[in-house]
Amino acid sequence: SPPAERYEYQAEVSRLMDLIVNSLYSNKEVFLRELISNASDALDKLRFLSVTESGLLKDAVDFDIRIQADKDNGIITITDTGIGMTRQELVDCLGTIAQSGTAKFLKALKDSKDAGGDNNLIGQFGVGFYSAFLVSDRVVVSTKSPKSDKQYVWEGEANASSYTISEETDPEKLIPRGTRLTLYLKRDDKVFAHPERIEKLVKNYSQFVSFPIYTWQEKGYTKEVEVDDDTTTEGKKDDQDDKTEKKKKTKTVVERYWDWELTNETQPIWLRNPKEVTKEEYNEFYKKTFNEYLEPLASSHFTTEGEVEFRSILYVPAFAPSGKDDIINPKTKNIRLFVKRVFISDDFDGELFPRYLSFVKGVVDSNDLPLNVSREILQESRVVRIMRKRLVRKAFDMILGISMSENREDYEKFWENFGKHLKLGCIEDRENHKRIAPLLRFFSSQSDEELIGLDEYVENMKPDQKDIYYIAADSVTSAKNTPFLEKLAEKDLEVLFLVDPIDEVAIQNLKSYKEKNFVDISKEDLDLGDKNEEKEKEMKQEFGQTCDWIKKRLGDKVASVQISNRLSSSPCVLVSGKFGWSANMERLMKAQSM
Ligand code: ADP
Ligand code: MG
Repeated sequence: SPPAERYEYQAEVSRLMDLIVNSLYSNKEVFLRELISNASDALDKLRFLSVTESGLLKDAVDFDIRIQADKDNGIITITDTGIGMTRQELVDCLGTIAQSGTAKFLKALKDSKDAGGDNNLIGQFGVGFYSAFLVSDRVVVSTKSPKSDKQYVWEGEANASSYTISEETDPEKLIPRGTRLTLYLKRDDKVFAHPERIEKLVKNYSQFVSFPIYTWQEKGYTKEVEVDDDTTTEGKKDDQDDKTEKKKKTKTVVERYWDWELTNETQPIWLRNPKEVTKEEYNEFYKKTFNEYLEPLASSHFTTEGEVEFRSILYVPAFAPSGKDDIINPKTKNIRLFVKRVFISDDFDGELFPRYLSFVKGVVDSNDLPLNVSREILQESRVVRIMRKRLVRKAFDMILGISMSENREDYEKFWENFGKHLKLGCIEDRENHKRIAPLLRFFSSQSDEELIGLDEYVENMKPDQKDIYYIAADSVTSAKNTPFLEKLAEKDLEVLFLVDPIDEVAIQNLKSYKEKNFVDISKEDLDLGDKNEEKEKEMKQEFGQTCDWIKKRLGDKVASVQISNRLSSSPCVLVSGKFGWSANMERLMKAQSM
């Protein structure tokens, strides 16, 4: 057979390996979680592909993960019957860093001031495959992809800058498909190769793996065996019969043997009864599934019945991914779609959630979609349309829940991260205005530092106040200092400050809230219900010529110069025409055309 070929690791991998091998990270046992999660991903991929390419499954082996620990030699093998890897994939996957989890880790590490390596980060992010080197001196990966007729062996050592790939030649080691990892544990880490330890770790870390995980365990059963009764006692000496034919007696003994034992519960969490799942389990599932290290702000587990049946767990994350792209880009991989428990896709483009809600994460499992559901089917399916409606409703319930939570900080956190998304919703989703509007928050002329909701505003309205007043400005300070406020402040009328560029467009799309119109106080037709026609006429007569003179001086710079009753202390104010753009919009349009 051809000799093993040697490859250098990509620089980042070398750096990562260095960190892992030399880390003082104490929670080394996470290696098993990472490797099992890879095995599970490989099984997911195969199951998904096999739906359309039935030929892939020509070897009728089950979908499972088997872990064998040899405590005498300090060796652990982890075998899955998943998709395996071709030679090229071995190079691409185990020699470079293209993977999300690991990339995230490296980035966080870079961001963290402690450039020497923050040991805690290893556990928070998981370092994927390379975590095998937390406990191993040497790792051998023997793998067979259905795309290749050969089985390949990847071999790497801790503290080495290269690895080798060769063909598997040992007939005893050939597998029909999938991957077998062999870990040769470091001297001090051999304790991990105890079968009981493995069992405990699997139970701890792999409760959400939906494939059976078997561990190789020593078992025992009791049986009755006949033994010679040689306990004949002195007292029985006289008994002639007993002495001549020795009595047989039975004894219970434990027979020992080794066998595979199913070690995890394969029922996915979303199929369980919500009453029996704890908050910790939901949060754990979230972190594990979405590679998150912060707890979500809220979760919702529900089943819908009737026309369309599906189960789902949705989450509101505690943080928006940085970068402003995400508000535009709905392809966040935040929703994992299953059909009859088979993972189908997390690659959506607004089919299940409108883009402004694309920050919601979760799983959705339907029995009413075909297993080989394609993008076209997704886009045209009535089932999907109904699902989408329900999911959106549930997402709003969840957000409303956060807004009503006793812990005001939760909603502040939500608003800070996702407020923009909801404002975008005002523009893009007329149908859900009723659900979005109560969730909006603004500063106001009376709110000081606190943000207020429209409900609070409406409650604060004066008995004869008909409209909701707002002013758009580039900051709270400039909103506070605008002369437009004078008259309203005098009358103690509250004014919303729209200081985010998108605010004004969002409010204009809403038009009204609880039958109260939104009114821009900078527009020329502002009517505060205090018109005094007599007085106005008088003023016009007295100052008419002054206005004409000013208009002449300013020429085309203004549309008109008028007497106004809306100021208290400032001598004049520039207002926008009734049908024109507000000053703020003008500013925006200018900014955009640059
Ligand atoms: P991640 O799981 O985030 O992609 P890992 O470092 O854990 O990153 O794994 C790197 C890649 O190696 C995986 O994406 C996958 O392509 C491949 N891989 C790892 N383990 C297996 C396996 N058991 N079967 C098939 N491919 C695997
Ligand atoms: Mg992984």
